[in-house]
Amino acid sequence: MTGVPSRSSPDPSLTRALRTAYRSMRGHYGHLSWWPGETPFEVCVGAILTQNTSWKNVERAIQNLKAEGLLEPRRLYGLPVDQLAVRLRPAGYFNVKARRLREFLRVLVDGHGGDLDRLFAGRTVEVRERLLAIRGVGPETADSMLLYAGGHHSFVVDAYTKRIFLRHGWCSATARYDELQRLCAGALSQKTGDRRLDYWQDYHAQLVIVGKDFCRGRGPRCAGCPLESLLPGGGPRV
Ligand code: SF4
Repeated sequence: MTGVPSRSSPDPSLTRALRTAYRSMRGHYGHLSWWPGETPFEVCVGAILTQNTSWKNVERAIQNLKAEGLLEPRRLYGLPVDQLAVRLRPAGYFNVKARRLREFLRVLVDGHGGDLDRLFAGRTVEVRERLLAIRGVGPETADSMLLYAGGHHSFVVDAYTKRIFLRHGWCSATARYDELQRLCAGALSQKTGDRRLDYWQDYHAQLVIVGKDFCRGRGPRCAGCPLESLLPGGGPRV
């Protein structure tokens, strides 16, 4: 697996478009204070559970864990995998997710003393590789953990990002995860430190909500969308 892809320098007009897109989304929705999770550990658990399901279902599973005081690394790791699966049932694919979560917990507890600060310690590229080496943790899950739980500058790309970018002609249909991440990191690195962290956290959150509210899979609803003024001539590309 590779670490954080190096940044590319997108052309200036694309950079301008991506920065304008944020201002438009932010103007429409305000700052979104994402990710939904009370602690970094809850963010990590949520990042694993949210694969292939809605956040509402994830919340129900997390509620099950909270209700029993299990949302703590060692206590959760102490739960046999079949009992973990029962509690994750609302999140769907619960047997698979129980195994993935246990893998993550094994690395966190056995390898890093149950301490997330230790798991996230180091250069972003190294920590990303550490996370990607865990079975069941792919780039989107790793980057979500890095950005929202670990305080690392690692832009999160997802299906909403790709759909919006594709419809605006900002990427090609064949663009891979790493290419999109490089594009965003290259265009959106004008801030530094905590300001960049907040910018990237909020940028991804804004894309998700635009994707849910307007840029839907079954067809875009461009009228009133905060990104309407950035559409290419002739409207959405796909
Ligand atoms: S709904 Fe239309 S304007 Fe909004 S992001 Fe999608 S393609 Fe762009």
